[in-house]
Amino acid sequence: MFTYCPACASPSIRFERERVFRCADCGFVYYHNNAAAVAGIIDRGGALLLLERAKEPARGKLAFPGGFVDPGEGAVEALRRECLEEIGFDPGSCVQFFASFPNVYPYRGIVYRTCDLFFTGAAPDLKKEDLHPDPHECAGIHVITYSNLNEADLAFESARQALRLFCAGLR
Ligand SMILES: [Zn+2]
Repeated sequence: MFTYCPACASPSIRFERERVFRCADCGFVYYHNNAAAVAGIIDRGGALLLLERAKEPARGKLAFPGGFVDPGEGAVEALRRECLEEIGFDPGSCVQFFASFPNVYPYRGIVYRTCDLFFTGAAPDLKKEDLHPDPHECAGIHVITYSNLNEADLAFESARQALRLFCAGLR
């Protein structure tokens, strides 16, 4: 990410333990910390809501609605904001924490390590026609019945793990 130290311009900057940039010349330190991200497993009763990603990484693959937690934001707040932005739907404050898995998110040449938090929410009356997908984020909305869910269609490993756990709980 850095070729030269942003503080003293020395080339003696190293990236250590997948998390810290350290300059051997001036002592500059930058922690490239994990980012927090959220996703909603929105259950319409027998079917889950999935978005078709409109952008890279993994354009065209499916994802649960969600995104990165902004600075100063709580996880549920971030989930509600992201769902509103992406599909015009607020899952409400009664979403339940479900599971968390690490993920790797490559974006424009930089690899972000994330801690993905998955929440479940029931939306039995949700209709696809009531949703307003943001075309920059979402190329389509799919409501997929449990029996037709295929983890290979999902964009990210963390989501595949969450889906696996969710489906295991159905049995
Ligand atoms: Zn330096």
